[in-house]
Amino acid sequence: MKPASLDIPAPAAGEPAERNILVVGGGFSGVEVAGELADFLRGALRYYPRVKPDELRVTILQDGTRLLPELPESLGRRAARSLERRGVDAEGVDLADGGRLAAATVICTIGTRPHRLVEQLGVPLVRGRIDTQADMAVPGLPGVWALGDCARVANAASGADSPPTAQFAVAQAGQLAGNLAAAIAGQETRPFAHVSKGMMATVGHLNGVAQVFGLPLAGLPAWLLWRAYYLLRMPTLGRKLHIWAEWTWGMFFRADITHLRFTRSGETEDEAAAPPPPLREIPVRAEPARTPQALGAAGNRG
Ligand SMILES: Cc1cc2nc3c(=O)[nH]c(=O)nc-3n(C[C@H](O)[C@H](O)[C@H](O)COP(=O)(O)OP(=O)(O)OC[C@H]3O[C@@H](n4cnc5c(N)ncnc54)[C@H](O)[C@@H]3O)c2cc1C
Repeated sequence: MKPASLDIPAPAAGEPAERNILVVGGGFSGVEVAGELADFLRGALRYYPRVKPDELRVTILQDGTRLLPELPESLGRRAARSLERRGVDAEGVDLADGGRLAAATVICTIGTRPHRLVEQLGVPLVRGRIDTQADMAVPGLPGVWALGDCARVANAASGADSPPTAQFAVAQAGQLAGNLAAAIAGQETRPFAHVSKGMMATVGHLNGVAQVFGLPLAGLPAWLLWRAYYLLRMPTLGRKLHIWAEWTWGMFFRADITHLRFTRSGETEDEAAAPPPPLREIPVRAEPARTPQALGAAGNRG
């Protein structure tokens, strides 16, 4: 697949980089944070009458041909349209000078890697993850098992490797417990198999895209489903109620822009008083111009 960039014109001369926010990665996390930021900025504008809406810029940089490649193409296109309506730049442009995009805030969402400890264990690795047999045992090391984000676990239900998601990590945990019990009892272990329930992403306030048991959903129904699912997954009734009340409040009122100063333990007075870090620039690969149609024409989180 030819790499593409969902990227945006470099700031015009004199345009303050402080008002540019770059979100690196157009997967679930990138789309969700860009949508929320765009809505938050739009909601905050009323308190800053001297700032014009088009002076604020949220840009997604995506090394791929479209947003949300894990979802069906139609949902990826829908997410891109929805983000564009919210003022998020999701249209490819020619950065012929191979230029750099200046921004005071750069949010990186391009995935995580296993802890360095994994590399030091001397176990077989596949793309940095511990290779496992079908039942999640580590080959050649009796009594060692691996699961979750740090492990490459084949999914017998799909024939593909399990994606690094909580949904799969939790399913693996349940089945590995069964395999451990079977191994201790001298019985046969089972290969890991899990049918994905679906995938969901929010695209800003009251808007989402989802594929649930193969059924594509978009807009408010997808957003409500996303909220309901995550609420149900929260531990303890008290926390569920707390979050439900906050979320319900947030549905009907604008975002609260009050600045709450949280200080991490270990942060000294000197650090707190230090000047802000200098503006960062990230290099952007020059790519041929792309149209929104072309961006919506390819692509696959399970
Ligand atoms: C921003 C973001 C959003 C995500 N959203 C979703 C989502 O919407 N849905 C979804 O299904 N998945 C999501 N994921 C993926 C999901 O969080 C992971 O797939 C899941 O947490 C993997 O579980 P795990 O137990 O393998 O690893 P983790 O949850 O990372 O747990 C590993 C634990 O090991 C601890 N640890 C690390 N090193 C050591 C050490 N040396 N000694 C002792 N302990 C150690 C860590 O502190 C951590 O508590 C998201 C991930 C990110 C980063």
